[in-house]
Amino acid sequence: MPLKPALLLAALALPLPAIAQPAPAEVAKLRDAALKDEIAWDITEGLTTEIGPRLAGTADEARARRWAVAKLKALGFSNVRVEPYQMPVWVRGEEKGAIVGSFAQPLDLTALGNSGATPAAGIEAEVVYFPTLADLEAAPAASLAGKIAFVSHAMHAAQDGSSYGPFGQVRRIGPAIAARKGAAAILIRSIGTDYHRNPHTGVTTFPQGTAPIPAAALSVPDAEQLERVLDRGKPVRVKLLLTPRQIGMRESGNVIAEVPGRDAKAGVVLVGGHLDSWDLGTGAIDDASGVAITAAAAKRIMAAGRPRRTIRVVWFGAEEVGGFGGEAYAKAHAGERHALAAESDFGADRIWKFDTALPATAAPVADRLATALAPLGITRGNALAGDGTDIGPVLATGVAAVDLSQDGTRYFDYHHTPDDTLDKIDRAQLQQNVAAWTAMLAIVANAPEEIGSVERPQRDH
Ligand code: ZN
Ligand code: ZN
Repeated sequence: MPLKPALLLAALALPLPAIAQPAPAEVAKLRDAALKDEIAWDITEGLTTEIGPRLAGTADEARARRWAVAKLKALGFSNVRVEPYQMPVWVRGEEKGAIVGSFAQPLDLTALGNSGATPAAGIEAEVVYFPTLADLEAAPAASLAGKIAFVSHAMHAAQDGSSYGPFGQVRRIGPAIAARKGAAAILIRSIGTDYHRNPHTGVTTFPQGTAPIPAAALSVPDAEQLERVLDRGKPVRVKLLLTPRQIGMRESGNVIAEVPGRDAKAGVVLVGGHLDSWDLGTGAIDDASGVAITAAAAKRIMAAGRPRRTIRVVWFGAEEVGGFGGEAYAKAHAGERHALAAESDFGADRIWKFDTALPATAAPVADRLATALAPLGITRGNALAGDGTDIGPVLATGVAAVDLSQDGTRYFDYHHTPDDTLDKIDRAQLQQNVAAWTAMLAIVANAPEEIGSVERPQRDH
């Protein structure tokens, strides 16, 4: 393709190499202007106000896709489109729980995604307590026949959110383990770090051959209350009513928008977050802020001139319930060259650290990132980047990555609860995120180095 006159002039004016990286001062200017960004707030406010909860595969998520297309077009992105796919859909029903007998009182709980249902009249059964998931795993086969398993854990807040991986297993696999041991139902202590009387939902999985049982999370205060009642030493019975349903295959979709690049051979820079949310809150920190931060940064690069690489913004569908959007994207775009991928899905609090996964040929990119991000208080980590459920399937093919790690200290106070609402977003911290993403995109989308594939050990997304 012949160079356009303006680009030709620009190329002639520059010293070799012909494709220049943006000067550090230019990156700094874009970064600092983004500290006053209003685009990300506008997207987060609009999505949480005009759409609200948007459970994957439902009419609410479809409405969110239409909203997203209109918003991304209005922002001036190119090739704005929806890529649909089919997925199994689970919807919440009634949910009630109570201790019965001499300590009779209600319990605040919520069904986990993919939970089975009780009969319409509910069930009543004795509770068997397990302080940890390992204790549940150690219970003899069939020992829970007809009982309600209750599993606790010791999750605490951490800046890097690292407690979610191990303690989240109570929610992810606890119900299937209890089902295999014959339990009539399972209650877990919410995978959360707050003492609000809000249970935390989230997905659980029953593998083929394991019939789903009713599975619910108690709020942390309710879990501790039930533990104290059990401590009294008498058998404790709980009454439980959960009526969620699997409603079969439905349409979901990924919303895609692009900032076209100059050099089609240089590969696509993939960024984004997920558009769907749990149904209890309005999905402000999970993940309206993530789609907003990444789109705002891409928009700022677009406004500064055409980057070398195409920046593709994807607002993935159906992340919460099993990463269906990420799988569908990787399948649909398997033949394409991705230079690098990065995802924002950990709230809206400030970025404190970055990590990279870059081929040796692109090592200087990480040094330039360190220089550009340091004034925002962001330090260089020594982990191999690769966060993000939605980009996981693309990263698994060896695509390079950058992680911009957000402060997760208070993330699990609100995560997957009715409290995930707009008021939890701190505007200055949201702007710091946009500034970091803008600087990162300015560097990676324009890097003259080839960003090829990366050796990556198999990891569990
Ligand atoms: Zn999320
Ligand atoms: Zn989530």
